[in-house]
Amino acid sequence: MNLHGQFYIEGAWRDAQGRETTGVVNPATGQVIAEVHLGNEEDVAIAVAAARRAFAQWSQTTPAERAALLDRLHRIVLERREQLAQAMACEMGAAISHARSAHVGFAAEHIRVARDNAAAYPFTVLRGTTAIVREPIGVCALITPWNWPLYQITAKVAPALAAGCTVVLKPSELSPLTALLFAQAVHDAGCPPGVFNLVNGTGPVVGTALAEHPDVDMISITGSTRAGVLVAQAAAPTVKRVAQELGGKSPNVLLPDADFARVVPLGVAAAMRNVGQSCSAPTRMIVPRSRLREVESLAAAAVAEFVVGDPLDERTTHGPIANHAQFERVQHMIRVGIDEDARLVCGGPGRPEGLATGLYARPTVFSNVRTTMAIAQEEIFGPVLAILPYDTIDEAVAIANDTVYGLGAHVQGADIETMRAVARRIRCGQVHLNHPAWDPNAPFGGYKRSGNGREYGVEGMEEYLETKAVLGWGAA
Ligand code: NAD
Repeated sequence: MNLHGQFYIEGAWRDAQGRETTGVVNPATGQVIAEVHLGNEEDVAIAVAAARRAFAQWSQTTPAERAALLDRLHRIVLERREQLAQAMACEMGAAISHARSAHVGFAAEHIRVARDNAAAYPFTVLRGTTAIVREPIGVCALITPWNWPLYQITAKVAPALAAGCTVVLKPSELSPLTALLFAQAVHDAGCPPGVFNLVNGTGPVVGTALAEHPDVDMISITGSTRAGVLVAQAAAPTVKRVAQELGGKSPNVLLPDADFARVVPLGVAAAMRNVGQSCSAPTRMIVPRSRLREVESLAAAAVAEFVVGDPLDERTTHGPIANHAQFERVQHMIRVGIDEDARLVCGGPGRPEGLATGLYARPTVFSNVRTTMAIAQEEIFGPVLAILPYDTIDEAVAIANDTVYGLGAHVQGADIETMRAVARRIRCGQVHLNHPAWDPNAPFGGYKRSGNGREYGVEGMEEYLETKAVLGWGAA
């Protein structure tokens, strides 16, 4: 077992000030695979001071210099794909093939996009004789969750560095190992000391200290709505910018003319990708009432194709739930669905057959779900799909919008104009029509209680910029 007692601060690995440690548990085996030191307020103060010192120079670099760093980082992350994928398989149970292709593959895309944006972005434009100058906001604290460890880190770190900001990263205390490998990759890419810093620790201690710190200009958190609210409250007295990527309960509206044989399996796969532990997973499939039975059998057939098991097995499509608390939550919500009298199409409580140990859940589909049920309203964050029937398109849209969240949505159909019209009516930050390929340039983020701000693409970098108007810049 490895002991990680150091944080990456000002270009070097330094002993943690915090003396407490936490065990990192492999959810497939229950074994503690590493022990990691948890930081305290002192660690935060040291890291923020380092980021503040580095900001003076880093903020003055040219976009080309920042793009060059991101280019090297992109290459190194891809070179270390296997090591990073293995770390995620062990610390949060990602199926290894999925970890390689999606967790690492998509994370690398965030770095590539940030590199390209750094190089191409018009940081100064003239409006009449006034220059509109976009400048880095300053020192940014970045708090990330355990469900997509590397992907969430790169979605914040890469655009922040591209903008010219310096950062202190606090990854989830439940998945810190990938973050340690990432810090080494940043170092090996030649990042100047203090530009990128990492402090491990819990939300209440390190997260709160970062949110409250007067020398942090912006805090960006991806996690639960609960944590996002606490961060905003802690950040308010210092009037720092707060970006929040929070929970979701995304709808997937199947219009009557959709190709059901294609979109139902794709919808099930999207809802249960990463074992359903994705904030934008389309976990509410909204279907014409007359097609309910057809959708149920297509969904059950799709689930039957899944291979649930050892994340290190190449054939596995779905590993275990990432941690014990989440496993208990998923089990609880499956029982709630049964108690609410939703129709259990497949799955159910308990572990899949043959998997007596490990935090494995049964991919579960409920049908005939009403929008008032808890399984239609609460984010479950596990492999649980709710199928809700509708009678009219207006009702389908109303069900889609009947949520406190507004992160993602899907619409399936044959008539593009109808799909566009439905997409416009759904209150959320990103809509997918007929399961297109993932687009790392498409801004991502929430309406309503799914958060504030956008990540990915140009908009993701603009979050880290301030706007300065210089009047008279263009005067003769
Ligand atoms: P979480 O909110 O418990 O933790 C997320 C991060 O916030 C962790 O690093 C944690 O240490 C930190 N944190 C917790 N309490 C904090 C506090 N008081 N102050 C500062 N930081 C604090 O969430 P989780 O269990 O790691 O992740 C699952 C949740 O995150 C789900 O609700 C999911 O929807 C959401 N999520 C959202 C997105 C998105 O992009 N919108 C992405 C992934 C996960």
